[in-house]
Amino acid sequence: MPLDKYHSKRDFTRTSEPPGESEPSAKGGGTARLYVIQKHHARTLHYDLRLEDDGVLKSWAVPKGPSLDPAEKHLAVAVEDHPLEYGDFEGRIPEGEYGAGTVIVWDRGTFEPLGEGETFGEMLARGAAKILISGEKLRGGFALVRTRWGGKDNNWLLIKEKDEHARPGYDVTGAEPLSVLSGRDVDEVE
Ligand code: MN
Repeated sequence: MPLDKYHSKRDFTRTSEPPGESEPSAKGGGTARLYVIQKHHARTLHYDLRLEDDGVLKSWAVPKGPSLDPAEKHLAVAVEDHPLEYGDFEGRIPEGEYGAGTVIVWDRGTFEPLGEGETFGEMLARGAAKILISGEKLRGGFALVRTRWGGKDNNWLLIKEKDEHARPGYDVTGAEPLSVLSGRDVDEVE
């Protein structure tokens, strides 16, 4: 079951995070899929990139957050799949629970995989995916490339492609800190 790991880490009688469907519905159809970045002030502040595939949100924790500068290669650590409903989640995860802290929806929109004859899942399995993001803060082409740092296979790099949406030297997380849903920052969420 795709969400087993997600469920096993959480006590849904304590956290207000969505339990999600036990059996993700195959959505199929169009090419536009949900794209979300959540800003998560847990033990350390980080950003969680989520990309819809096969009825779940494939997820990466990005310690430095995304960048619009193609020269910046930011580490993105693959984590457990999340339910699609997680894309709406903002709130506080209680102390003692997995990921305790506050979460806001920092950016949201859709993305398209740019595979030639390859599905998004196949690109991820190969360790190199190109996508076109249409968010409120991030737009244009991005690459996700798996590295083998430390002999692990969950380390990826998130890199902005050179296109008209690239902004060399611009600090998008610093300049645009707030939730696209509520206009709040993580520390204002209770
Ligand atoms: Mn997180």
